[in-house]
This record gives sequence, structure tokens and C-alpha cells, in this order.
Amino acid sequence: MASVGTNPRMASKILTKAELKAEVSKQLEQQRKKLIELSLKIHANPELAFKEEKASKWLTSYLAKGGFQVESGIGGLPTAFKASYGINKPVIALIAEYDALPEIGHACGHNIIGASAVGAALASRCIVGNCGGSVVVFGTPAEELFGGKVLMLEAGVFDGVDAAMMVHPGIRNAATTEALACIGLEVQYFGKAVHAAAYPERGINALEAMILAFNALNSLRQHIKDRARIHGVITNGGEAANVVPAYSAATFLVRATDNTYLEELKQKVLKCFEGASVATGARLDYRWGETVYAPMKNNMVMAKLFAQNLESLGRKVEHFESRFGFGSTDMGNVSQVVPAIHPSVAIVSPDVLLHSSDFVLAAASESGHEGLLDAAKALAMTVVDLLGEPQALTRVKGEFSGQSS
Ligand SMILES: [Zn+2]
Ligand SMILES: [Zn+2]
Repeated sequence: MASVGTNPRMASKILTKAELKAEVSKQLEQQRKKLIELSLKIHANPELAFKEEKASKWLTSYLAKGGFQVESGIGGLPTAFKASYGINKPVIALIAEYDALPEIGHACGHNIIGASAVGAALASRCIVGNCGGSVVVFGTPAEELFGGKVLMLEAGVFDGVDAAMMVHPGIRNAATTEALACIGLEVQYFGKAVHAAAYPERGINALEAMILAFNALNSLRQHIKDRARIHGVITNGGEAANVVPAYSAATFLVRATDNTYLEELKQKVLKCFEGASVATGARLDYRWGETVYAPMKNNMVMAKLFAQNLESLGRKVEHFESRFGFGSTDMGNVSQVVPAIHPSVAIVSPDVLLHSSDFVLAAASESGHEGLLDAAKALAMTVVDLLGEPQALTRVKGEFSGQSS
């Protein structure tokens, strides 16, 4: 007779790790049709940052039907959610993204991220039943534009989580990702408008100030650390050729491999803008972005477990040291407070670029569907590793606490 509080599945049969991995794979094959439908539905209804109402509803109803306890609108964000299975420690978080890009749609394949997270979550129920602990899915909106996870972190949503993971579709199978620290910068110059031919000596040229700042940044760029990035566009450069521009504006992104260098680089970038202000007499006004994307701190214990699981599905995983294109993600911020990974599964050939129309097609293609299934399987199998073997999580946490950001 089972005593009160004993999990009935635990009492009936305890599966080995290998048996559990086979079981989660089998369960994901059973979910295949439904997960593909869900992914295609999100893909066909692209929703922008903080407006992901349909995607959020579809994903939460899938989880609720699977017995997950759903809380919508967490962290003060209406399209964010938390769905839990189990109430005990340790807590493994699976991260869902589901926002699209303006105009182009699901060119980052977040439909696959959302569907793979909920698929892995449902398959993980048997792991919780066998090993204890709990599995939580966090629905994280606005990854592309506003960094929803940063706001959720500030609201304390990730408190108590022991490890977090998600899979992004891409051009490679990789267990780690390199994401840079990143901050936005809005710049404005204010000059004085006069007739450009009649009284040029009485004008102050705000556009020249901006051009000078761009040139100063180009000079600076030769002497910044490898893999740091400074890039921007002029959003206002004047109105008419015969009027000295009294106003100019630009928007920039500044990126670095770590937060310390990002701070240093910010000061150098600012000096370029200030110098152009001194040279031209145009007044500078600037505002740094409120959201700072942190660099990704890959937990290598988790990454190696994930890599083994993905390889067991027949995918060749790229070497950890290989360097390739990188951007920034709000998962970097999560990885600074919780041991985390942000691996990728290949759904297209390397010549297709993320955020392109070809990637939109790939995110709804057969190889996209295979990526979705393999991502979900590898995630669930890694949950087996983390909940099925207490030492694994101890090693994950040991690495995390010994790591500097
Ligand atoms: Zn993207
Ligand atoms: Zn993305």
C-alpha cells in the first residue's frame, strides 16, 4: 500500500535513465502530429512582441490539457506564462519563445521553439513521476524587440529554478551559443537652421555632427576588442538640401563579449558623439536603452549532456569551440542567474540566414518539423539526465557558482 504523498508511478515501477529516455522519445513520436500542427498554426499567425495572444493561448491550452498548472500573464506581461508539473525541487525550466518579426513573420523560427518546449514538457511528466522534482515551462514574449525575459527576471519569475534550457532552430546542431552583451543607444544632435547658400556661416549643422560621429566610430572600430560590435543607422538627416539641418538622429547598438567591456566600450562610443558635438557646435542629446542583453553563460555540464542526447538522435553536433555568427538574446540574462543552455538544431543549410524569407519557409518545412521533434526529444532526454541523477545537477550548479560572468 502506498503511503500518503508517494507518487503512484514511483511506487509501481522505477525506470532506468535509458528506459526513461526511450519512453520520452516514444511519447514525443505520439505527439508528433499535434506538435507540428501547433507549430504551423503559430507560424501562420505571426504576432509581434507583447501581442502574442494567440500563440500564448494555444501553447498554454496544450499544456493545460496535459495536466500542467498554468498561470498566464506572469511578471505583469499579459502574453507571458508559467506552466508547472510537480511541486517539488529540483525545478527544471523549459523556455518557450513565440514572437515573430515585423513584416517578415516567423523568420527566426520561434514557432519551433514554442512547440518543442511544450512537447518536451508533456514528455517530461513521466520523468517527474519516476524521479521526483518538477518541470516548468516559461512562456517568454518579445525576445526579438524588448527582451521579455529581462522583465520577467526583474519580476522574480525565475526565482527557485535550478536549471533552464531551450532550443533555437538554426543552421547548425550545436549545444552552446555565443551571445553578446548588447545595449541600444538613441542619439540626437540639435543645430541651427539657416539658408545653406545665403548664410552658411550662421548655421549649425546637425547632420555634419552625425557624419563626424560615424567617422569617429569607424576610427574607434579598428582598436576595439575582437568580436565587439558597434552599428547604427541615421533615422533623421535633415529636410531639404538648401537648409542647414538643425536636427539629426540615429539609433545604435553596442555589443561586447562581457558586461565589463560593454561598459568600457559605452564610454568610448559616447566620446565619439561628444567630440562631434564639440567640433560642430551641435548640441548632443542621447539615451541608452533600458534593456541590456547580457552575454550567454553556457553551462558546459548541461551542454555536454544535451550534445550527447542530440547525437543519440543521429545529429552530428558541432564542436564546442567552433565560432560562428552571433547576436544577442535575452536568454543570456537568464543564464547569468540560473545555469542555462541555448543550443540549436539545424533546419536549413548554412547559406540560409536567420531573419530571411528563406528561413520563414524553413520554419514551416519538413526539416523544420524534424528539428522541432529532435529539439523536444533532446530537451526531454536532458531533463532525464538532470532529474534522474542528482550528481548531474550538483555538477551543473558547481560549474555555475565557480564561473565568473
Ligand atoms: Zn531572431
Ligand atoms: Zn530567435
